[in-house]
Amino acid sequence: MDLEDTAEQAAYRQRVRSWLAQHASEAPVLRGEGALTDEAEVVRARRAWQGRLAEGGLAGVTWPKEYGGQGLGPVEQVIANQEIAAAGVPGVLDAIGVGMLGPTIIAHGTEQQKSRYLGPMLHGDEVWCQLFSEPAAGSDLAAVQTRAQQIDRGRWVLNGQKVWTTNAQFASFGLLLARTDPDVAKHKGLTMFILPMEAEGVTVRGLRQISGEAEFNEVFLDEVALDGELIVGGVGNGWATALTTLMFERATIGLGGEGLGYSATRFAAAVASVQGAGADPTVRQRLGVLCAELTAVRFMGYRTLTALQRGQIPGPEAGLAKVTLVNAATEAGELIADVIGPEALQRGSDWHHMICFLPGLRSAGGTEEILRNTVGERVLGLPPEPRLDKGMPFSELRQREGARA
Ligand SMILES: Cc1cc2nc3c(=O)[nH]c(=O)nc-3n(C[C@H](O)[C@H](O)[C@H](O)COP(=O)(O)OP(=O)(O)OC[C@H]3O[C@@H](n4cnc5c(N)ncnc54)[C@H](O)[C@@H]3O)c2cc1C
Repeated sequence: MDLEDTAEQAAYRQRVRSWLAQHASEAPVLRGEGALTDEAEVVRARRAWQGRLAEGGLAGVTWPKEYGGQGLGPVEQVIANQEIAAAGVPGVLDAIGVGMLGPTIIAHGTEQQKSRYLGPMLHGDEVWCQLFSEPAAGSDLAAVQTRAQQIDRGRWVLNGQKVWTTNAQFASFGLLLARTDPDVAKHKGLTMFILPMEAEGVTVRGLRQISGEAEFNEVFLDEVALDGELIVGGVGNGWATALTTLMFERATIGLGGEGLGYSATRFAAAVASVQGAGADPTVRQRLGVLCAELTAVRFMGYRTLTALQRGQIPGPEAGLAKVTLVNAATEAGELIADVIGPEALQRGSDWHHMICFLPGLRSAGGTEEILRNTVGERVLGLPPEPRLDKGMPFSELRQREGARA
């Protein structure tokens, strides 16, 4: 693999760099001196900044031009991310919308949906959330119980509960997976809907985390009436549509954690800045191990990138990059807290958010156990886990569970 920029990529990088040099002063300050602290103010400023990034062609780099993107490849997206990180400015606020839900609508939505929703999403005028997980459907996502029933030819009524919905507290729309037919096998009776978060019967309740923030929520749906035009990808096609979203999630994570700030260099620099820490053999040993793992993740990211560049879809091995990244970054957080001391955990410190956020990342985007199972089965060819629910109608499955309880 050639890790150098081609002439075109170098020219693109230069264009991105010049744009950032010109506009970085307009970016909101989120850390250190003069940082915004009020949550609503942060969201407002980051939405406006996302709009500027979109105008500059730095958001939705891989989206087709007709929907406001740049029509470029994943390598250019990575270059833009690298330059945004190097300039020390925030990226898009709505990474879930622009990175995962927009591409899902591009792949499965109607032309009317694309022209109505994609532009405001890209520019941060309307933020989106992903309404997939439920209290009894996380790893086993196809077990969703939120029920959508057709009441007349063009209208549906939704009842149920979603959980862990990032950004629902300020989202305008969500992409929601619901069960439309309980009498077929569980993967088959699902449908994807666009949910206007202002719709009557939608209640959003924040879940407060150890960091003190409430980035995700419970969302309750009580007799929410939706027009059939809000269905994405067709009735009964929800699983295929959801898989597209999850594929984009995996690609985002598989490209390595540098965009998230989990780079070996950053952790090494932090340790080196504390007098005497670098001379401690235990610290050196711990740092060496985690830097080796993060470097391996970076190179796995390059492999994913190569696959994308060749028009291939990243395989299940990307899951291993996520597991390794999260474990190494968690260990880095613990090392930083040991070396710097309790002030690393104080609100407003460079490390507070990362250290508090990482335990959650163990679950988001696939838990370690699930990803290891997937790698075991689909990469190493080990025998699959026993699955008792295969082919059985979802309604019978529920009855069987009820009888067991
Ligand atoms: C920070 C964060 C943000 C999130 N944002 C969103 C969002 O915006 N939208 C959304 O829809 N969801 C979101 N999620 C939810 C996320 O997708 C789920 O947490 C994830 O799918 C795991 O589901 P769960 O939490 O219900 O855990 P469960 O699936 O209940 O798992 C609990 C434990 O059991 C283990 N386990 C489960 N099944 C198996 C098995 N077959 N074999 C071995 N072990 C198993 C798991 O590994 C885990 O340790 C977010 C989560 C986090 C932490």
